[in-house]
Amino acid sequence: MDNVSSKNNNFNPTAVKDELLKIYPVKVLRKRSKSIVINDNEATPEIQANVRTIPGIISQRGCSYAGCKGVVLGPTRDIVNLTHGPIGCGFYSWLTRRNQTRPPTDSSENYMPYCFSTDMQENEIVFGGEKKLRMAIQEAYDLFHPKAIGIFSTCPVGLIGDDVHAVAREMSATLGINIFGFSCEGYKGVSQSAGHHIANNQLFKHVIGKNDQKHEGKFKINLLGEYNIGGDAFVIEELLKRCGITLVTTFSGNSTYDQFANSHMADLNAVMCHRSINYVADMIEKKFGIPWIKVNFIGAAATAKALRKIAAYFGDAELINRVEHVIADELEAVRLAQEDVRTRCAGKRAMLFVGGSRAHHYQELFKEIGMEVVAAGYEFGHRDDYEGRAVLPTIKVDADSRNIEELDVEADPLRYEPRRTVEQIETLTNSGMEFKDYDGLMNDMAEGSLVIDDISHSEMEQLIDIYKPSVFCAGIKEKYAVQKMGVPCKQLHSYDYGGPYAGFEGAINYYREIDRIVNSRVWALIKAPWQKYPELQACYTTA
Ligand code: SF4
Repeated sequence: MDNVSSKNNNFNPTAVKDELLKIYPVKVLRKRSKSIVINDNEATPEIQANVRTIPGIISQRGCSYAGCKGVVLGPTRDIVNLTHGPIGCGFYSWLTRRNQTRPPTDSSENYMPYCFSTDMQENEIVFGGEKKLRMAIQEAYDLFHPKAIGIFSTCPVGLIGDDVHAVAREMSATLGINIFGFSCEGYKGVSQSAGHHIANNQLFKHVIGKNDQKHEGKFKINLLGEYNIGGDAFVIEELLKRCGITLVTTFSGNSTYDQFANSHMADLNAVMCHRSINYVADMIEKKFGIPWIKVNFIGAAATAKALRKIAAYFGDAELINRVEHVIADELEAVRLAQEDVRTRCAGKRAMLFVGGSRAHHYQELFKEIGMEVVAAGYEFGHRDDYEGRAVLPTIKVDADSRNIEELDVEADPLRYEPRRTVEQIETLTNSGMEFKDYDGLMNDMAEGSLVIDDISHSEMEQLIDIYKPSVFCAGIKEKYAVQKMGVPCKQLHSYDYGGPYAGFEGAINYYREIDRIVNSRVWALIKAPWQKYPELQACYTTA
């Protein structure tokens, strides 16, 4: 391990990579080697991503069901999201992400505090669970009279072959409401990313475009891939409102069924989390003619850039002016907070192993307080999330990807209306606007930093040992293992008890929280049990 770092902490990434890999058998080493790359800003290296985790390796990943039910549909407040499966799956995907919502009144529909499940037992595994599913739908309807019910398949449902779609059709006809199923069994695909795709396909088929109500406002957008963790969407909603931009729908933070149904009435789709939702942006563009751009509201500079990008798309002088006023209003407080926090945080190291865009977006916040991100990667990213969308034509479609339905989308014969002419798009592109584009995480990472897809538990522990970061950002599965090593772990799936972190206000919250975390002396005092007692001795008793 001596050759991985010198005394002045200049790490040798090649030696670090070798160190991470050397515990594996040769076949595993060869496979993992392709998923660990050293960033090179001159020639973006190819990374192996979106492939199955090697059996026996502890992964950070969630399942397809978790991506579909927990991530995409979880933050909707007025759809009854019913898990068809054992109660553990339902509980796992319920409220562990701290999605928030604000119903207009105390008596408005809000089912997020409830965990709906058919609570499948051995009996249903043997004789089939469709009868129990029908009863659960009827019970949810009788109790709540929701506008819509979504049914989510779990592993046992796929294994015994219950037809959730047939039950959905039958109960929809009986009850007269929109009921739709998701074939998102946990084992479909290689990670939760498959579940996002399945969720988006069903929303597109069963909900989007069902409500043609027109909105007031000159500048109408949808925000895609923002899930209102810790109240992020509330901050963004407020910012957009101050700028005079009408938010038609958010997929799916603080969202409702009617907003989804009405989303085709917006004039621009702004995409936050590229991985979880680029499919919806593409499909809406093909069917209804709404262009999409990538934005990021995490980080003060990124927020200002996103607002300016949206204003430039509409090209209205009054809007551009208003956006500049809002930015100027906010930046002074941001600058003061940055200056203060930098004095204690600059030069400290962070690592981010989370999600499918968060490991990219949160680097903005660390940069703003002078912290260095030495290693990062996604749990469920694809190559384009790392290398940028330019590599899309070179990504091989494997059997796992073929498992997920690709919808054949055509322009709506009546409602397709290109929001910008070809000439307008060309003019905007020539002035620097990037449509349907995303440069990926590697583009923003430092030369020589490590980029690791689907990091294993062993690689994570070794990285921490070598780099000794001041903070490690991940999820609940890693949190306590990391903290036992004397390193604070900040959860970026749920924000622990913190947030919001979006927009200018959120950036200040984040700087201050990271400052408290990385400068707390308590971490140096922590000794894991195995550090105090490296060897446990035991003997059989005869009593
Ligand atoms: S992997 Fe299967 S059993 Fe586990 S939570 Fe996901 S759906 Fe449920």
